[in-house]
Amino acid sequence: MQPIGLFGGTFDPIHYGHLRTAFELWQELRLAEVRFLPAGSPPHRDQPLANAELRLRMVKAAVADQRAFVVDDREMRRTGVSYSVDTLTELRAEYPDRSLCLLLGMDAFLGLPHWHRWRDLLGLAHIVVAHRPGWKAPTMGPLGEVMVDHGTGTVRELHEQTAGRIYVHAVTQLEISSTELRQLIVSGRDPRYLVPDEVRHILRESQCYAHG
Ligand code: ATP
Repeated sequence: MQPIGLFGGTFDPIHYGHLRTAFELWQELRLAEVRFLPAGSPPHRDQPLANAELRLRMVKAAVADQRAFVVDDREMRRTGVSYSVDTLTELRAEYPDRSLCLLLGMDAFLGLPHWHRWRDLLGLAHIVVAHRPGWKAPTMGPLGEVMVDHGTGTVRELHEQTAGRIYVHAVTQLEISSTELRQLIVSGRDPRYLVPDEVRHILRESQCYAHG
């Protein structure tokens, strides 16, 4: 069976950088689906500006026309801080024999050693890292070491094993970030062509970033 891709994020708001990355990884890794997991209360950063309901609405609107993209709101339904290790433990129990691939941008991967029980993640899933502009794969430190022990250059291993490999994949570089998008909207500019039109309509109607 093909692996399931898991794409977590704050999605405050979702943008074409997220969508294109998910699409290329879905195609090139031959994933059964990419599951978007919007974070409820993210542990590593300031709280999102847009509320959970609105971020979820934007993610759903953004992926509505792509059958292989699925939205999973479990982290939003859970109270308290969203830890990836808890989400992966739940998913592993639901899919005991299935390959699970946690999809991360390189910036997120470099922050991994700060995640709660980060070393346990590889016991639960593979980690697929998408190159993001301006970021390089680590060669030293704790991540450099796990790259040596767990790194793989073949997609086949992601299919044959259910967890435990790290695979780095180059995707089309779209220099878009939610932070810059919010700043652009606060300053009264139009996010057109950086986000899907459906997301742009929700942003307009809700005015969720209008006041910074
Ligand atoms: P912020 O600017 O608020 O930190 P962000 O744009 O980085 O937001 P997140 O929701 O924090 O978006 O990111 C979710 C995931 O998407 C992370 O793994 C991140 O590395 C990845 N990601 C975000 N933007 C891009 C992009 N332009 N290209 C590739 N991956 C991206």
